[in-house]
Amino acid sequence: MKLKNWLYTTALGAALSIGTLQTGQAQERYFRAIGTPHNPKVQVSWNRYHTNLALEEIMREMVKQHPNLVKLTSIGKSYEGNDIWVLTITDFKAGKAEDKPAMWIDGNIHSNEIQGTEFSLYTAWYLTEMYGDLDFITELLKDKTFYIAPTINPDAHDYFIKEANTQNSPRSGMMITDNDGDGEFGEDPFDDLNKDGHITMMIRKSPTGRYVKDQMDPRKLIMVAPDQQGEYEMLGYEGVDRDGDGRINEDGIGYYDPNRDWGWNWQPDYIQSGALRYPFSVPENRAVMEFVMKHPNIAAAQSYHNYGGMILRGPGDCRGFRHL
Ligand SMILES: [Zn+2]
Repeated sequence: MKLKNWLYTTALGAALSIGTLQTGQAQERYFRAIGTPHNPKVQVSWNRYHTNLALEEIMREMVKQHPNLVKLTSIGKSYEGNDIWVLTITDFKAGKAEDKPAMWIDGNIHSNEIQGTEFSLYTAWYLTEMYGDLDFITELLKDKTFYIAPTINPDAHDYFIKEANTQNSPRSGMMITDNDGDGEFGEDPFDDLNKDGHITMMIRKSPTGRYVKDQMDPRKLIMVAPDQQGEYEMLGYEGVDRDGDGRINEDGIGYYDPNRDWGWNWQPDYIQSGALRYPFSVPENRAVMEFVMKHPNIAAAQSYHNYGGMILRGPGDCRGFRHL
């Protein structure tokens, strides 16, 4: 009770003081969440994912609203001809972008990892909106440059959002390869059999099934205990054997891994699974490499994937490193 009374009194006190201030002042003094742009010039809803079109719209708006802080450049075209956009963010009045030490940030190399796009875009948004508002950011953009590419896999970024997929497909880009080695390319992809816009698991009733439907959500199956009888069995992801080779969904879009395309310590597919033909044979990676080679001021890089709960350094080996 004591705590409740204290809270009540404090809240009332705050409310009374706010009443005596202008609304703008009141917000700054009482309601502003630390580190958040409280009145952003570029309005973005961060509770959704953005398609390529939406991304471009937001980036163009950033340029419009912050002409002294943002430039937007296409560093090349994707396999399907989409632009690979890079935001250059710095205080242009305080010196040229290429004269300052820079950080490269990209997202979404794995196309299903669309969170990486949003984090990259948010970083750009945060930097530009907090400039002039937070001394640290103001100083940072005077002295340093950020090159931010929200998606370096725009083709498959939209394909993941718009077409029927699993949560993991396509992790690749949109080039079609011969995944099962039968001389045909992409002849047996997933099939959205129930036309619900998602590739989910096929199930059927079976006397030996180990699953029952969740009573709270019948879309979910629950495995029964060893001594209980189930009702359904799982048959794998939706699909049919289009090429009649006895396998289902074994040759769809992709599969190569753009994150096995970087030049340093590159190895062919049988050593590092997912490598395409040779280093930088993925056009999107090649565009990134060419940009980086032309910008020797880049001193650090961060690549956003999705959930892992960790920060990884790039693939490498232990030569030259001292183990601690
Ligand atoms: Zn990834």
